[in-house]
Amino acid sequence: MPFFSKCGITLDHIITGSGSSTMIDLVGEIFLNIGDEVVYCTPTYEAFPDMISDNGAVRVPVPLTADYKFDLDAMRAAITDKTKLAIIVNPNNPTGTCVSGAQIEAFIRGLPDHVIPVVDEAYIEFTNSDETYSMLKLINEGYDRPLIVLRTFSKIYGLAGLRVGYCIAPPEIIDEMNKIDQAWNMSKLSQAAAVEAMKDQDYIKMVKEKTILNRKYLVDGLRDLGCEVADSVTNFIYFRSPIEPKELVKIMNERYDILMSAFDDRSRVTCGLPEENKAFLSAMRGIISETTAEIISA
Ligand SMILES: *Cc1c(COP(=O)(O)O)cnc(C)c1O
Repeated sequence: MPFFSKCGITLDHIITGSGSSTMIDLVGEIFLNIGDEVVYCTPTYEAFPDMISDNGAVRVPVPLTADYKFDLDAMRAAITDKTKLAIIVNPNNPTGTCVSGAQIEAFIRGLPDHVIPVVDEAYIEFTNSDETYSMLKLINEGYDRPLIVLRTFSKIYGLAGLRVGYCIAPPEIIDEMNKIDQAWNMSKLSQAAAVEAMKDQDYIKMVKEKTILNRKYLVDGLRDLGCEVADSVTNFIYFRSPIEPKELVKIMNERYDILMSAFDDRSRVTCGLPEENKAFLSAMRGIISETTAEIISA
């Protein structure tokens, strides 16, 4: 396959599955025993804390940095003799932020031998700088210590419904994963679609360019409305507004037919088409001015 030969990665470095969610579960089933600790930053993709608990392991979450990024120094400080996995989601979901490839690489190289790094790169194709490189680089260079990289066709490729994910790791890790992997977990149709999608890199480039423009429009608009917005490199935006997040989700959904998510004191919205983004900002403006008027009159 052209994509992988370009990376210099051979078939014995790859395992595929029905979405990277399946790969996340597989990693937990294979590598976690009861009482093992798993270090990660929070908030991050929910499947990780779930996978840790499902396997009787211990969650060791550390907060993101003040600018909503994975705090690799804090993660390193949280590692003990019992740590089995260190999880990095880069770019992170729900924040859309990323840390540099060099930082992750240094973190991985500095880990004690008993800790396996797991790097989830579901959104890596959206990034647009040389700084944010994939950890496939290490595997490509022949890195022979444990390292697990997770990828998916569900995000920039837009094929979430077809369920195509993959994991790239040194062959010893892949051998372990193959031992309990279901043999036929991806349909031929999904495989064929993923291979065709991979060939159309012009389309990926177009999606990426449009996303950058749409994201800038939304980020600027939200900041103009006084929201505190994380620096996203993805197709979604994590922000704090004057409206309680669950309340905001409800109003957006019921009154404007716009879907978004709530996370404690922050909200997340995904970039849409230009007219959808415009409608979202105008709805935000209306809701914020209403709420502010209520507060003033109360
Ligand atoms: C969406 C997502 C996944 C899982 O996607 P699949 O559809 O199961 O491939 C994994 N990790 C992150 C960070 C995601 O955002």
